[in-house]
Amino acid sequence: MNSDIDLARIAVIGAGPMGLAAAYVAARAGAQVTVFERDDRIGGMSAFIDFAGTRIERYYHFICKPDQTTFDYLKEFGLEHTLRWTETKMGFYFNGRLYDWGHPRALLTFPGLGLIDKIRYGLHVMKAKGVDDWRPYDAFSSTQWLKQSIGERAYDVLWRSLFHFKFYELQDQLSASWLGTRIKRVALSRKSLFTEEMGYLVGGSEVLLDAVHDRLRKLGGEVRLNAGVEQVCIEGGGGAARASGVKVNGEVLPFDRVISTIPLPYLVRVMPDLPADERAKVAAIKNVGVVCVLLKLKQPFTRNFWMNINDPRIEIPGLIEYTNLNPLDGTSIIYAPYYMPQTHPKYRRDFQTFIDETLGYMKLIRPDFDPAAQVLASTASRYEFAQTVCSPGFYDALPPMRSKVRGLYMADTSHYYPEDRSISESVRIGTQLAAMAMDDAR
Ligand SMILES: Cc1cc2nc3c(=O)[nH]c(=O)nc-3n(C[C@H](O)[C@H](O)[C@H](O)COP(=O)(O)OP(=O)(O)OC[C@H]3O[C@@H](n4cnc5c(N)ncnc54)[C@H](O)[C@@H]3O)c2cc1C
Repeated sequence: MNSDIDLARIAVIGAGPMGLAAAYVAARAGAQVTVFERDDRIGGMSAFIDFAGTRIERYYHFICKPDQTTFDYLKEFGLEHTLRWTETKMGFYFNGRLYDWGHPRALLTFPGLGLIDKIRYGLHVMKAKGVDDWRPYDAFSSTQWLKQSIGERAYDVLWRSLFHFKFYELQDQLSASWLGTRIKRVALSRKSLFTEEMGYLVGGSEVLLDAVHDRLRKLGGEVRLNAGVEQVCIEGGGGAARASGVKVNGEVLPFDRVISTIPLPYLVRVMPDLPADERAKVAAIKNVGVVCVLLKLKQPFTRNFWMNINDPRIEIPGLIEYTNLNPLDGTSIIYAPYYMPQTHPKYRRDFQTFIDETLGYMKLIRPDFDPAAQVLASTASRYEFAQTVCSPGFYDALPPMRSKVRGLYMADTSHYYPEDRSISESVRIGTQLAAMAMDDAR
């Protein structure tokens, strides 16, 4: 163990997967690490709740075959045995009818598109699957890319409503790189051309997060819950500015280095002294929020894990029937995500309004569905910065992970770019943040 690192006191802000990974890697290298978490639990977007007797993620989570960092972590923590793969089914609710989706036969028999559109769509997915360097795709928008590749009609049928009910007025501001890596991630998570396979952990993401937390404690690190950082303290000015600690619950605590893993718009709020150019970069990045409805039903709603929706009466991009991936206790668990810019008039509605709306949509999808007889429990969760809007030129738009303020390292889910949000990416970026801090400590 390096004695300099041994002396480094590191504050990590946020106990989501990224903060925990950064803390663990720094503690393993010999630093004294304290993680500050505003919430009453670890996990951030991957946090668990007790949902009418079922421990479950607040937001749906699945694992794809390219999630290599997750697999490495499972190995490191002796948890490989918790990983399960399920042959999942996909559905597409299009203009009042539910179709099979996600395999060539479904595509060929789908009546909403002509043969040429279908061939173009299939080729587009295959092409995305083969792309290794997404940089050239950073130059243009996903809308432009899709319309050119699959045509206007296929774009309208397959993509427009998915984008609209996630990003609304920002729907045309997404880069092709961001979309392409998402298509590739799911496309690579197949057992064969005909079968999609998605993964989950027995016990959920919580087993992995708890294992990291436990190991961190054994290494002398600590996670403080209900401990929101109110300020990142800076010493000196201009080029000599240095992170010197954090203020938590009114108390200033000295640290040698600060690693921030909270959504960057929050960091700007607790760090008015962030250099102007870094602050401007953070301010230019847009995010959408999410309100995610969670339902527990007596019986399965469909046989699909994932259902995309394109129907003028339904204002969500899809439904996720989680128990068709992870069977749990025999009940059916459904997630209905309402993504939208935080400025959208719907965003601040109370949870019951979202729940009632979802049940109404489900009745449209399955007129025989009787919420009074089926629903055992319902709840919802809200996350303010749930999805970054990764626009063309995003590589250059990203703020640096190593700030000009010495001893300050910062990242959030936008730094996965061009990859999409995932626990795997959180761990990868958290590890990089800790490596930077450790390098500087040496
Ligand atoms: C709807 C939804 C579905 C998802 N589906 C999947 C999926 O299927 N598979 C997958 O792998 N990933 C999925 N993800 C993504 C995954 O959850 C995230 O990539 C991951 O949790 C991000 O971790 P993080 O640590 O980077 O950030 P976060 O999870 O955002 O953690 C940040 C933490 O910082 C805390 N914090 C904020 N401000 C302060 C402060 N001032 N002081 C102290 N703490 C603070 C927050 O409370 C939070 O705990 C999904 C996310 C969402 C929202």
